Amino acid sequence: MSSRTYSKAKRVVVIGAGIGGLTAAALLAHRGYQVLVLDQALVPGGCASTFKRRGFTFDVGATQVAGLEPGGIHHRIFAELDIDLPEATPCDPACAVYLPGETQPISVWRDPDRWQAERQRQFPGSEPFWQLMADLFRYSWAFQSRDPVLPPRNLWDFGQLVQAVRPGTLFTLPHTFSTVGQVLRWYGLGGDRRLKTFLDLQLKLYSQVDAEDTALLYAATALGVSQEPQGLYHLQGSMQVLSDRLVASLERDGGKLLMRHTVEQIYTENGQAKAIAIRNQKTGEIWTETADHIVANVTVQNLMQLLGTEAPKGYERRVEKLPSASGAFVVYLGVDQSAIPADCPPHLQFLYDYDGPIGENNSLFVSVSHPGDGRAPEGKATVIASSFTDPTIWSHCDNYESLKQQYTEEAIARLSQFFHLTPETLVHTEAATPRTFAHFTGRDRGIVGGIGQRIPTFGPFGFANRTPVKHLWLVGDSTHPGEGTAGVSYSALTVVRQIEA
Ligand SMILES: Cc1cc2nc3c(=O)[nH]c(=O)nc-3n(C[C@H](O)[C@H](O)[C@H](O)COP(=O)(O)OP(=O)(O)OC[C@H]3O[C@@H](n4cnc5c(N)ncnc54)[C@H](O)[C@@H]3O)c2cc1C
Repeated sequence: MSSRTYSKAKRVVVIGAGIGGLTAAALLAHRGYQVLVLDQALVPGGCASTFKRRGFTFDVGATQVAGLEPGGIHHRIFAELDIDLPEATPCDPACAVYLPGETQPISVWRDPDRWQAERQRQFPGSEPFWQLMADLFRYSWAFQSRDPVLPPRNLWDFGQLVQAVRPGTLFTLPHTFSTVGQVLRWYGLGGDRRLKTFLDLQLKLYSQVDAEDTALLYAATALGVSQEPQGLYHLQGSMQVLSDRLVASLERDGGKLLMRHTVEQIYTENGQAKAIAIRNQKTGEIWTETADHIVANVTVQNLMQLLGTEAPKGYERRVEKLPSASGAFVVYLGVDQSAIPADCPPHLQFLYDYDGPIGENNSLFVSVSHPGDGRAPEGKATVIASSFTDPTIWSHCDNYESLKQQYTEEAIARLSQFFHLTPETLVHTEAATPRTFAHFTGRDRGIVGGIGQRIPTFGPFGFANRTPVKHLWLVGDSTHPGEGTAGVSYSALTVVRQIEA
């Protein structure tokens, strides 16, 4: 391939084979680097991997994918790697949101006109707010597709940021410090409980925080991505296909992936990353691997642990001061198809009462397989429901198993209000807690979804891919543009461009 003739044969090690790490690794291998990827888990993919039970295939975390459309980030990267995009069907609606006590959902339709009609019917008087969001989305999306580096940390990064700016981008600038909550109040919508709750639910999924705190520019992107010409997709087979293809590309281009290999330490010398300590989980063997560049596909909290005493002090303090992050409680159900109502949308969100913050089983985000999508035997289906949970509840509890059982039963009772769940229709039940995520994805305390898209932590003010340690790069959902397979793929592309530069 032409890109490989520019080989610099520089050696890169990638810590973690999540979508961020694999994307960076596959791109670097394709551009001629010697790449070694290490992952502590059994299968690659991290939060976007799968597991199989009794003929069912369950997506561990991520269930819907953005960025598959022409020009979308997965599309761009798969085209560069010269590999086929996974087969997928668009989600329409992207989500059906049920507010407390309501039997008809708010459907986030894929068609922009249909979605406009739906929101005007659901939230009368809110259209000026939505129009602002649509304008911000248009300009922010165009800006992001010109590959800015955010936040910039040197002159080259700054140049990349500036080249992405156009007159339209300037329209977004005055909104840099606004939150969704503030803008709702400007439009006199602060007291619209249904609208606010709908936004809380949707934004919490994408930004980890509610409407009050989510940065407006981030929210515009998160909310706008569900409509054509963008959109959310359901992958044929399972989420695993995304990582499998990236691994195939990596290996085709001479890269190497070692599963069940834990990186225990990053070594630096004179402020520059030099090597890592690796432990082979099967043999217990520990060795050191040197590299020209080290790409860490871990949370920023995990990065601090890997650096240990070599972590730059200012950076460490910044990480320590981050607001506490959320974990996920997930139930994975294998069911008889008769448990699923007719015309069930692929993704649903339920809030069960208006009181209190969203979390701890009072809301569920639900993904349902459809016949022939490769996740369940004939006549069966998978139902995966997740809620936000405080990871400390799980790390400090005396009786972990009974708490997990209690959460599972509560979730199934909630789900039974919509699905026909009985001992006859329920074939398989399993649950994951922050402890499970900590074990299988290595994420600190099992936190998921990044650092939260509040003003002090989103885009221009977040954690850069370029760390203060030279030749050490951070890729994944702790960095811009945040969580999701599409988000972490952007961060991977940025790191690859920075390494090349
Ligand atoms: C319940 C849930 C639902 C979600 N739903 C969606 C969705 O529908 N759509 C969407 O786009 N996103 C969704 N997300 C978010 C998305 O899954 C993540 O943001 C994304 O997959 C994170 O990718 P990553 O590359 O940053 O890292 P991760 O997926 O965290 O991968 C990191 C990898 O590094 C490995 N690792 C960690 N430490 C070490 C070490 N020391 N040594 C070796 N290996 C190590 C881990 O084993 C893991 O494989 C969801 C997440 C969750 C938890």
